[in-house]
Amino acid sequence: MTVIPRSHPRYRSLLVRAGLAEEMQRGLVVPEGLMAHGRGEAFDYLLGERTTPSAARAAQAAAARLLLAERPVLSVNGNVAALASREVAALARAIPHLRVEVNLFHRTPRRAELVAHALRAAGVKEVLGVRPTARLRGLASDRSWVDPLGILRADVVLVPLEDGDRAQALVLAGKFVIAIDLNPLSRTAVVAQLPIIDELSRALSHVRREAVRLRRKAPRTLRAIASSADGPALRGEALSTIRERLLKLSRMRT
Ligand code: ATP
Repeated sequence: MTVIPRSHPRYRSLLVRAGLAEEMQRGLVVPEGLMAHGRGEAFDYLLGERTTPSAARAAQAAAARLLLAERPVLSVNGNVAALASREVAALARAIPHLRVEVNLFHRTPRRAELVAHALRAAGVKEVLGVRPTARLRGLASDRSWVDPLGILRADVVLVPLEDGDRAQALVLAGKFVIAIDLNPLSRTAVVAQLPIIDELSRALSHVRREAVRLRRKAPRTLRAIASSADGPALRGEALSTIRERLLKLSRMRT
């Protein structure tokens, strides 16, 4: 593995990239996943590489929504397993009825096993979707496979780094979709009822902290929090953050 000097101003980002490249060699991540990561990084730059106040509100609403859900599922692809298996496990501990399901755009039995292995190694007790037997309507190919005990019967699905078609198919299947996606313009962020426009690890940690804080609240309080965030407003606020940052930076003299 390449040695990255700690003094490098983008040390963390380079470390994450090196880790993803390594996971691609092992087969957990696909080349397309590296490109999706690059797109996410670009938006993180634009948003200031921190959780914005509106993303924090979205994470709080997501925690309330997951606590209220009867059959919530967290969907995990190769990038998510490579970047945030520990955060997935921590969230599943904080919300014990949250089930974790492997969901792959480029599905092979080996990749599904690799994702499940990474999740179990991080502490996820039960992993669904390794050999899924049901299909989501409206999707061609391997992307339509879902677990009959997981996403198929879920009422709320948390989809980090999802592609637009699948997010749309989930909404059409009657699910409440919470997305984590740094790109406020992606189709996923547009179709999800609750987009959290933030970096994956930060967003999952935030949702977990909120779930721990909220789990003893009355359902009435949770319902009020769950419905306090609205998709178009959250996307609008992310775009305003980008616009204001760019305006400010463009006026700075170095
Ligand atoms: P869509 O199909 O929804 O329009 P897309 O074609 O960009 O979007 P993908 O290629 O599957 O979809 O990319 C996944 C999305 O995940 C991208 O929008 C990217 O911004 C986002 N993304 C990538 N890495 C991260 C990350 N670490 N945290 C949050 N979002 C990320």
